Formats: sequence, C-alpha cells, structure tokens
Amino acid sequence: MEAHIAVFPSPGMGHLIPLTQLAHQLLLHRRFFITFIIPTATGSPIKPQKDILNAMPENITSIFLPPVDLNDLPDDATMETRISLTLTRSLPALRETLTELTTQNRPSALVVDLFGPPSFEIAKELNIPSYIFGTFSAMSLVSIFYTPILDQMFACEYRELLEPVKLPGCVPVQGSDIPEPLQDKKNESYKNIVEISKMFSMPKGILVNSFVELEPSSFKAMQEGEWCKPDIHAVGPLIRKGSDNPTGDEFECLKWLDKHPVGSVLFVSFGSGGTLSQKQVDELAFGLEESGQRFIWVVKSPNDKANASYFNAETHHDPLGYLPDGFLDRVKNRGLVVSSWAPQVEILSHESTGGFLTHCGWNSILEGVVNGVPMIAWPLYAEQRMNAVFLTDDLRVACRVKVDENGVVGRNEIDSCVRCLFEGEDGRKMRLKMSELKDLGAMALSQDGSSTRSLLHVAEKWVE
Ligand code: UDP
Repeated sequence: MEAHIAVFPSPGMGHLIPLTQLAHQLLLHRRFFITFIIPTATGSPIKPQKDILNAMPENITSIFLPPVDLNDLPDDATMETRISLTLTRSLPALRETLTELTTQNRPSALVVDLFGPPSFEIAKELNIPSYIFGTFSAMSLVSIFYTPILDQMFACEYRELLEPVKLPGCVPVQGSDIPEPLQDKKNESYKNIVEISKMFSMPKGILVNSFVELEPSSFKAMQEGEWCKPDIHAVGPLIRKGSDNPTGDEFECLKWLDKHPVGSVLFVSFGSGGTLSQKQVDELAFGLEESGQRFIWVVKSPNDKANASYFNAETHHDPLGYLPDGFLDRVKNRGLVVSSWAPQVEILSHESTGGFLTHCGWNSILEGVVNGVPMIAWPLYAEQRMNAVFLTDDLRVACRVKVDENGVVGRNEIDSCVRCLFEGEDGRKMRLKMSELKDLGAMALSQDGSSTRSLLHVAEKWVE
C-alpha cells in the first residue's frame, strides 16, 4: 500500500495553499496517498478551499471536519485566537478521523502548520510522527524558537525596547517589528503563541518553505543552536503554479498586461486578508495617480481592521465604489483596478510586471522572489513587519513605506517609493539582486538542488 500522509492545515488560504504545494512537490518525487483534514468554523465560506482541493491530483483527498462554533468569542477576538480556537475545538473530530484513517492505512506522518502543534498529543497517542510545515521564513522560525526565551528576558512590551532584538543568524529587528500577536502581552493571543512556540520543540522535523541560499545564516543558527531540537529541512520556494488556462478576470488581467512594456507595471496587493482604512485607500489612490506609474491594484472594501478579510478572502461590498471620485477615469490608460482577488502568480510571472507593492505575506514574498520582482514593503499584520525587515535590511530587495504619526502612509510617501523602485539607482540594485535570488531559488528546486535533496530525505523516511 502507498505511504499515507495526513495534513491538518490552519484556516486561511495563506496556510492551505502552501500545504497543497508541499503535497504536489512530494508527489513529484514519490508515490504517496495524502489526506487533508480541514477544520472549519460556522459561517466561514469553504468554497475557495474546496476549489483548491478539487483541483488536486487523485492521490490527494480531503475531509472537512464539522464546523466549530466561535459565536461565544467577543467581536474583538484576534485573528490568531479565532484560528487557534477553530483548530483546538476541532481536535476531538481530528482524533476520530485520524483513528479511522489509522485502521485503514496508518499515516506515516501528520503534517501541520504554525497553529497545528496542539494536535501533536493526538498524533503521539496514535503513534504517528508529527511534522510542521513552516509557511514562513527561517528568520520567523528562529523567532518562534526564541519566543519563550524573549518572554523570560523582557517584562516590557517589545515596542518599548530601546535596542533592536538580535536573534541568532538574523538581522536586528526593532521591537515594534516583532510579530503582531506578540505586541500585547496581556492579550490571550500572546499567551497562546508563547505556548505554541514551546511546542515547536516536539515534532520530529520542521519543513520550511524557504531555501538555504536565501537565508543561510538563519538556517545555520538553527543547525547549531541547542534551542532548536527538531531536524530542520529547507524545502522551498514552493509556490502555486499559475493556471495554464486562465479564464474570466484572470484572462482580462493578463491581456491587459500584454499591452504594456516589459517591467513597467506595479502590482499592488495586500494578500488574501489585508484591508486598508478608507483614508488609506484614498491616499494609495492619490499616490498611485501622482506617481504616473502603470499599475494593477487589487482593491478590497475599506475596513479599519488590517486583516478584515482573512477568513473569507473576499469583501462583501463593491470595493470600487470606495475609490476617490473620478480616479478610475483619470488612470484608465495606465491603471487596472481589480475587485477583491487577482491571479497573483500569473501577474507576477508576466514580463510586464516590474514591481510588487506587497503586505509582505510570506507566500507573496516567495512568489516575488521566484519571479525576480523587486518590492515595496507595506506590512500590515501577523509577522509581516519582520518579513519587511528581512526584505529591506537583509536581502535588500525592497523599500519600505513609512507610516506617519496617524498610522497612515501618505500619498507623497507612496509616490516616492514607487519612483525609487522604478526610476532610482536603489531600484536598479534591488532588481539586480532579485534576479540573482530568482536564479538561486530555481537552482534550489532543480534535480540536485538543496531543497530537492532535503525534501527527498524526508520523503524517504515517510515511505520506510
Ligand atoms: N493571492 C492571490 N490573489 C489575490 C490575493 C492573494 O492569488 O488577490 C494569493 C497569493 O498569490 C498567495 C496567497 O494568496 O499565494 C496569500 O498568501 P500570503 O502568505 O502572501 O498572505 P496572506 O494572505 O496569508 O496574508
């Protein structure tokens, strides 16, 4: 019988997409039977997830667990709390499902992501080795290992620290750029993340969606540090493949790009979950207008919460109605505005795309790297500020927007970042560096590349 792998992803497309990529990559090398066990919460749409899973090869199946009820949570419960509770409240159903799978074809591994470690106890009971697939950078992984250590070291909030935090093998990070759920020590999310971080020493291995050549010193630090217990395997950059046969809006975007010169278009997107306030939407619109640059902008309805669309990846109102009066008319020859969702991978791999204004989600960063597109870093939530530091201070492939004292990125700032990327000497250097990283990423995934060898190493253990 084929070796069986069980996957238990956290809610959110940013988690599911990379785990499906990992599954794809595994199947390229070995024959496996892979079961996705999907936790759900009442009221959150599951169609985008089903679309992704239905498109998988037949060796990958999925089981949707019964929706858990989160209605007892206060309205201001953080996204991390919602994700975590969806998972922990799904644990009884996970146990039942895994037990049943075990009687048919015992999984040789349970693979989870950032929020999945509470499931390790169940895997242990059932004698299934557990693994984490880190859909984040090696730098983030170092910071996770260090979370319990920093918790002991500093009593104050991180943003009050006068000196930057120095994590082994990583560029220094200002306290205010430490991941958002750790920014309020009184919040439930903080305690939860500290607890989950401690569990990172439990799995047999951690696969990281990054590559050694991108983050050599962070990987080295984990190899050498006694604080890092599991085996670490760099297996990336695994990104979604663009569709071979784009239809509808996808097709419209690509046709539009075809009409513009090579490297001339800025792609503006805040990921599946990122949203901006109305004031910020206005400033971004005016900034793009002033810059004179060609652009594709994925617009979502404004919201004062930066991650308002995380659970459904769509906004409910027509987002274009929130743009400044006359904006669409004034930019119509050089700007394309797309409502809620765009074919990001296809856009980034199009030769007309020359820059990426991103919220610094790790998948978006990898997609930029794989396609050699330099970036404007505009982090919003989660670990995105730390990712922005990595892009600007370590890789030097992005300029970062400055947020003013009212928490807004002004139109002049946007205009100057766009010009820096497309016209300045700094932009030229970033483009050059990005194209080197693109080659290194392709090499890591080539037949004898570092990431291919790492993944094969793990796959061999799973088929034993
Ligand atoms: N994505 C997309 N179209 C969009 C927005 C996002 O295809 O309009 C995809 C993007 O290509 C990436 C994922 O959704 O694969 C977002 O993951 P990321 O880690 O960048 O950010 P998150 O959405 O989890 O914050």
